[in-house]
Amino acid sequence: MMGRTHDLATFTAISYVVATQPPQTITLATGITALLVGIVGGLTPDIDQPTADLWRKLPAGSVIGRIFYPFLGGHRNISHSIIGILFFAWLSKFIFAKIGQILLVDMNIVWSAFMIGYITHLIMDTLTQEGVPWLFPIPFKFGFPPLRFLRIRTASFMEKSMIFPGLLFLDAYIYYRYYDKFIDLLKHYIK
Ligand SMILES: [Zn+2]
Repeated sequence: MMGRTHDLATFTAISYVVATQPPQTITLATGITALLVGIVGGLTPDIDQPTADLWRKLPAGSVIGRIFYPFLGGHRNISHSIIGILFFAWLSKFIFAKIGQILLVDMNIVWSAFMIGYITHLIMDTLTQEGVPWLFPIPFKFGFPPLRFLRIRTASFMEKSMIFPGLLFLDAYIYYRYYDKFIDLLKHYIK
């Protein structure tokens, strides 16, 4: 999947969670940080790809990306697996706990957003022809639908004309369906 598809998928997943969870009183700073960190989480599994969007968005990122590349064993390996989820859950919790000591935002919420982004990325990649090695180091890539030719090629017409607009449509539905909830949330910050 392309970076912007991952960005939108993360945004969609976070919107859905916000819409369906009981209302929480979070500060605006926490909300904005969580959304941004969620987007980063949604790009993080591709750190095993030196040309990944995440690296391009960071200064000197492509250099760091090339250092990470051999370490993570090439594209779609450990970072695209359950072990990768657990590793990054642990690592990000540790990092956010440190940052939380200086920054006045709710790091539990920020961490949840990061993980929503991360897991959404793997789910989206599962829809692609390449598949995802969920059970790494077992060298089998899972995909949905199971028949490879029915899955999506990255940056293909299908991704651009079906998946991306499909996600936009889903967002429109979520915001329409839970309109009151989002309005309440906004009122909380505007008043
Ligand atoms: Zn990926």
